[in-house]
Amino acid sequence: MDARPIERTEVDVLVVGGGATGVAAACTAARAGLRVLLVERYGFCGGGAVAGLSGTICGLYAAEDDPRVPRQVVHGFVDEFITAMEARGGLTAPLRYGKTWTRVHEPLAWRDSADALLASAGVRVLYHALCTGVHRDGDLIGGALVWTKAGVLDVRAALTIDASGDADLLAMAGLRTWCGADGTVQNPTMIFRLQGVDTARFLAAHGDDTIMPAAVGARIVEAQQRGEDLPRSKIWLFTTTRPGELLCNCTRIRGADGRELNAVIAEDFSEAEVQGRRQVRAYARFFREQLPGCEASWVNDTGVQVGVRQTRQGAGVSVLRNADVVAGRKCADGVARSPWPIELHAGQKPRVEWLLDDHYEVPYGCFVPERGEGLLFGGRCLSAEHEAVASARVTAQCFSYGQALGVAATLAARERLMPRQLPGEEVRRALNRQGARLDE
Ligand SMILES: Cc1cc2nc3c(=O)[nH]c(=O)nc-3n(C[C@H](O)[C@H](O)[C@H](O)COP(=O)(O)OP(=O)(O)OC[C@H]3O[C@@H](n4cnc5c(N)ncnc54)[C@H](O)[C@@H]3O)c2cc1C
Repeated sequence: MDARPIERTEVDVLVVGGGATGVAAACTAARAGLRVLLVERYGFCGGGAVAGLSGTICGLYAAEDDPRVPRQVVHGFVDEFITAMEARGGLTAPLRYGKTWTRVHEPLAWRDSADALLASAGVRVLYHALCTGVHRDGDLIGGALVWTKAGVLDVRAALTIDASGDADLLAMAGLRTWCGADGTVQNPTMIFRLQGVDTARFLAAHGDDTIMPAAVGARIVEAQQRGEDLPRSKIWLFTTTRPGELLCNCTRIRGADGRELNAVIAEDFSEAEVQGRRQVRAYARFFREQLPGCEASWVNDTGVQVGVRQTRQGAGVSVLRNADVVAGRKCADGVARSPWPIELHAGQKPRVEWLLDDHYEVPYGCFVPERGEGLLFGGRCLSAEHEAVASARVTAQCFSYGQALGVAATLAARERLMPRQLPGEEVRRALNRQGARLDE
């Protein structure tokens, strides 16, 4: 029981989750004059990018066979976020990632940038606030229940945005969701930061591509054969804004019994944390012993939590198909674009399938639930097939989805419509007026 009285509040838009999606959605809706409340279970924004330490903004640049100069093709709210990060010295210049580029961010600067943007937009933010249930009356979602240290907060909202990454609100409302390919999701990764690295020697030995060369993979395989716990051989190591540091995206977390782990299963999520910490030590040892420049390195920290790539997808009015990604499909109701490859984390080597000199668009219907009014959802839990998620989930796109959600919330409020009644084309036009440049 909880004997404390339930506090009640009323807003135009409730945003659950302060990842890239939630921050962009909340700022966009609040700037349009709506009363917006953002609730976030941690004490800071950033989600997978910060708590999960994913560490880079992928999805900004075109992929090319012989990439020489980064060509940014995704715009909008992300540009503002980049400016805020640059002002805090929290973003590297573009670094090579295979056939494209990415920018490494500093997680503290990410938190500060989000705080500043939310404050200047006038968003009311509650940290350490966990959404535990939704108000559902027939098909109408009218807000949510939020648990804080003061007790239960009953939030009534004209529009609720599920930016939890896990489609938590859809699941709570009993709306349809699914997990990966027949329940199997991409593996989690515990990201960590290695300090004390001689980065000049490291770069001289391995080149400037953040995807490590095949020779490093071969040495990992040899170590595996000697019995070391290094289950992933294709790894990514990034220099960062801090001297002497590498951001290490290299672990592949499985259960002790070899099963794939899904973070919406409590036992799996817990085991992923323990296995993740263990594997970090094994990779850090390997780097110290095997990689030039890393001889005197040590683990500075891991993510606050294991990095979760995929859990539930919400069932939307539209579904982004694997074929849409591969074909670079465009659509009149496209509200976000992505040039990012399919980057599927399953098995020993992540599979990367490039989309060269092209991009695809994500239709508005991928964020509108197939049932349920007064509700939008987005981010990595968008309505998409398994391999499409492996492309569509990265950070630049999550900023775009969030901006689209904020714009849709604004138009729905102004025109007194339910989100599903809005034409995606209208959302697209409004996004272009806000600098998304979807028609260029
Ligand atoms: C290991 C790993 C490596 C990655 N590498 C990269 C990379 O290099 N570059 C890149 O661009 N992308 C990368 N990604 C992808 C990217 O980080 C995520 O897909 C992206 O951050 C998702 O954003 P989101 O807003 O959809 O969700 P999230 O970032 O997951 O945000 C959801 C937020 O909601 C909060 N929340 C969840 N449930 C509740 C609740 N019930 N109540 C209140 N709050 C709640 C969470 O705490 C979180 O802050 C990586 C992801 C992982 C896991």
